[in-house]
Amino acid sequence: MGSWKTKLRANDLPENCKLEASCRKCGHVRYLSQSYLVAERGAGHLYIDQIENRSRCQVLGCGGGMRLAMMHGGQTSGFVGGMA
Ligand SMILES: [Zn+2]
Repeated sequence: MGSWKTKLRANDLPENCKLEASCRKCGHVRYLSQSYLVAERGAGHLYIDQIENRSRCQVLGCGGGMRLAMMHGGQTSGFVGGMA
C-alpha cells in the first residue's frame, strides 16, 4: 500500500507529473506539480512519503494531514509516457 511513495523521490517523477493531495480531515484537494515540489518546495531529494508527511491542509483552521496520490492522466504505466 503506497510503496511507490517510499521508492520515488520528487526528482524521479516526470516533469509533467502532478500529484493529487487530499486532506484526510476536510477532504480539500489540491494539486502539486513536480516542478512545484522541486523548485518551490525544494523537495526534489525527498521521497514522496516524506513530502506527504510534511504536507498540511492549507484550509484555514484545518491543518489536517494530506494524502498524496499519483495523477495518471489516463496512463497506467505512467513514468515514461506522455512526453510527446
Ligand atoms: Zn483540510
